[in-house]
Amino acid sequence: MSYQRPTKLIIAEKPSVARDIARALGKPVSKEGYIMVDQYAVTWAVGHLFEIDDSVAPRRWSLDSLPIFPSQFRYRVTKPKQFAVIKKLLDGVELVINCGDAGREGELIVREILREAGYRGKSLRLWTSEALTPSVVRREFSRLKPSQEFDSLYYSALARQHSDWLLGINLTRLVTLKAGGQEVWSVGRVQTPTLRMVVERDKEVESFVPEKYYVVRATFKWRHTYEGMLWEDGPVKLTKEEADSIVKELDGIREGRVTSVDVKREEARPPLLHSLTSLQRESNSIYGLSAKRTLDIAQTLYESYKVISYPRTDARHLGDSNRGLARDVLKKLGREDLIPNVDKVGRRVFDSSKLTDHHAIIPLDLPPRELKEVERKVYDLIHRKFVGAFMDNHVYETIKVITMVGNRKFLSEGRRDIEMGWMSLYKEPEDIASTLPTERIEVEKVKVEAEERETEPPPRYTESTLLKEMEKLSLGTPSTRASIIETLLDRHYMRRERRSLISTQKGRELVDKLYESRVSSPEMTGEWERELEAIYTSRAGEEGYRRFMERIRAFVEEELNKLKSKEFKVSSSLRCKCGGEVKFFGKGWKCSSCNAVVWATIAGKRLTERQVSMLFEGKEVKVNGLTSRKGNKFSATLYLDGTVKFKGFGS
Ligand SMILES: [Zn+2]
Repeated sequence: MSYQRPTKLIIAEKPSVARDIARALGKPVSKEGYIMVDQYAVTWAVGHLFEIDDSVAPRRWSLDSLPIFPSQFRYRVTKPKQFAVIKKLLDGVELVINCGDAGREGELIVREILREAGYRGKSLRLWTSEALTPSVVRREFSRLKPSQEFDSLYYSALARQHSDWLLGINLTRLVTLKAGGQEVWSVGRVQTPTLRMVVERDKEVESFVPEKYYVVRATFKWRHTYEGMLWEDGPVKLTKEEADSIVKELDGIREGRVTSVDVKREEARPPLLHSLTSLQRESNSIYGLSAKRTLDIAQTLYESYKVISYPRTDARHLGDSNRGLARDVLKKLGREDLIPNVDKVGRRVFDSSKLTDHHAIIPLDLPPRELKEVERKVYDLIHRKFVGAFMDNHVYETIKVITMVGNRKFLSEGRRDIEMGWMSLYKEPEDIASTLPTERIEVEKVKVEAEERETEPPPRYTESTLLKEMEKLSLGTPSTRASIIETLLDRHYMRRERRSLISTQKGRELVDKLYESRVSSPEMTGEWERELEAIYTSRAGEEGYRRFMERIRAFVEEELNKLKSKEFKVSSSLRCKCGGEVKFFGKGWKCSSCNAVVWATIAGKRLTERQVSMLFEGKEVKVNGLTSRKGNKFSATLYLDGTVKFKGFGS
């Protein structure tokens, strides 16, 4: 087979995008690592093909070698095979078309390849916020932009990459060494402020002192029985004495008077389409899935099954030109009845001004039969938001009834669905107002009683609420938030307990020591983010990159000096059944009294903190997904007897 030499090379950020582009341009012919279409070769990265080579930093971790400020960053190829393909294709082409995703990382991913391959020829940029349908690809290929227009975007991306690396390597090494050097204590621009939010919430929860108070409730009877609560512009919180005295005051009164019935008709518009973060939150709240798991499933639905659009997006809208796409999808989903609404929904669904690179996540087709149950669940969440967006408003009534007893006012509230609209996708119609009086009448007072209540602490963070807070504070990007949460769990800075995320001793120690440092403040990360953005928006170019890096160097140096005088101590909250303190030593945990050891990884599986603590408490732990020496998966019951033993396997 002869090698047909292409004259133009298209580089996409990932294989699926390369295929979309190739299909739009003509009759694609698949090759090893690329696709030929006429004079084009279409190839792809797989996310970043390079990472910063840590060997620019001294191999040995020591305090004297800090700060680490390499005079030049070097890169290490992480996917050598694909890079070799691209490098060969680059040889002799007359034009490169950068089809990285329209955003900071997309720009960097392709520029890294061209830089590391030493390509100096002509290049153009495809830049669109829309999904790459064949018509969009063909239109955009007729108006490709000069790459230089995006130089500042590249320098902004480079500044982000280099500054995160500098901050991470310097502070991680410093804190790790100060803490004894056995276990990595990672510090990062996004992960540390995120951890701080969790720690602060935990402290709030733990120092919370509940207060008792009393409310007064009444039960009334007309055709039906209903309840009301003592009310004065809000529920009345009372002491026990006050509540008892009101109950006594109303004791002799046998009737109540309904003095007002207020019925309000309300309409709720359909919710916005899903972004990655909103999808992760909903699937965490409803199914308890982690942000990482939801992202992985969404990626599979997008790449392998092709039944949803690009998932790593923070948009909750479609572009103005996506109306045709929406009609096609509704048809495929068997909802032709909703097609006329596409032109009616307006900017709630179609608004290009709300997009930066990708549009919201939408289904593209019906789900195939072979979807696993959990994949089906995530697909359904996306499907429901999309279909709902074109349905009618949910119309309901809220009913407020005031019943007077003596001169005390009691409020009863109800709600009744009138037209379900989009809400029919979420629940059955309800009428929780059917027992309330509909007009001003006399009713029978059945009883009045005081009820004890307690003030409640704020809830612990779940992945859903943490993601929401991260999004609000611009901590991380849609595609990195899940991995930030996983890193904090991996480092044992926090742990999962059912759906809650709870900081560990180690996590609290880190936040405590970094408390006054700006490294732990979400505001600093947000500020940093705005400055990076400004390199691009003000077209500051290489000079903007240099100025930013100088400031970051000064910042890192200042933080190192502040932290050098602090001591980090690891006090473990784990206890052994013998009473000894359990310490983490890098590869596992060890009791400092009886020397019992639990390795962090057993038969290929990383134990959770909860499993480790159960083992040290002397309990048996069932673990799934272990891998035998021959590579077979198995489950086993583990227990601790000096070291971890498999139950029923002998010793
Ligand atoms: Zn022990």
